[in-house]
Amino acid sequence: MSDAMIECEGLTKRFGAFTAVDHVSFSVAKGSIFGFLGPNGSGKSTVIRMLCGILEPSDGTARIGGHDVVRETESIKDMIGYMSQKFSLYDELTANENLIFAGKLYGLHGRQLNQRRDELVAITHLEPYLDRRAALLSGGWRQRLAMACSLMHKPTVLFLDEPTAGIDPVARRELWDLLFEFAGEGMTLFVTTHYMDEAERCDHVGYIYMSRLIVCGEPDDLKQMPEVSPPGTRRLDVTCDHVTTALRAMHELHGVRSATVFGQSMNLLVDESVRRAEIDEKLHSVGISHAEIHEIGPSLEDVFVTLSAKYAGEQQKAA
Ligand code: ADP
Ligand code: MG
Repeated sequence: MSDAMIECEGLTKRFGAFTAVDHVSFSVAKGSIFGFLGPNGSGKSTVIRMLCGILEPSDGTARIGGHDVVRETESIKDMIGYMSQKFSLYDELTANENLIFAGKLYGLHGRQLNQRRDELVAITHLEPYLDRRAALLSGGWRQRLAMACSLMHKPTVLFLDEPTAGIDPVARRELWDLLFEFAGEGMTLFVTTHYMDEAERCDHVGYIYMSRLIVCGEPDDLKQMPEVSPPGTRRLDVTCDHVTTALRAMHELHGVRSATVFGQSMNLLVDESVRRAEIDEKLHSVGISHAEIHEIGPSLEDVFVTLSAKYAGEQQKAA
């Protein structure tokens, strides 16, 4: 890919005998948002640390804007911003002091420094909180401040490690609105998350499982992978009252391969032979008189759950 901003090839990190990242390859186009998902401990933060030049790969290569992250660390330093998973703010400093300090670390000073600070305050709406100590800010505002700090030197690539973990839904949406604005201006974003709704909004997503990147691509393409929809099955959305009772009933129905609750409804993966009337009858038998049943496509969560189960099965067979 010619317009790739982040490229890695066989990227590997070993800590002693343990392989934390195992031959991971992908690329991220300039101005796009890449969502990186995977269970805790699967290697997401370690990949970011290698891409930022903080941790040396044991094997493989990575380039940012064409620069090798190991041999050209100095060239990439100015190009990238990194918002780490653990809050990287100085609690004792005010929001303003955090911004100024972050700018100084990158050699900004005088009018240029203040100007950049003002720009970011305007973008992130931090104005009312400038004199507040970072320790006293709410989760959402801390994240905005941390993000503003990581942007002081105008990076063209921004790495965000679980930026929305533990913040409320409104703050979460607002942070994503900002990310889209940045991408619209040509910034490349690499974001780790556990939220499927966030993953759905990314241009590309990658899923890392047990140190291996097991799937990578555009959300809509991934949902169409044949492995995700086993032949002879379909997915149904069933909306009804008493969803927990309904779930138990569905587990007893022959031909139901899996059933998962989402709020007021259930998603079923069933054999094609299962008729809607059978589902209705079964629900009737547990006292649920009315259910709405629709056929649906797989979600991204279905993609990741199915492929990681398949991968784990293959690993077990190989062992
Ligand atoms: P994630 O961000 O997906 O939760 P990490 O990249 O933080 O996962 O960690 C992946 C694995 O590598 C974990 O098992 C973790 O304990 C291990 N690991 C991470 N950093 C180190 C280190 N410096 N030394 C030894 N093991 C590490
Ligand atoms: Mg992590």
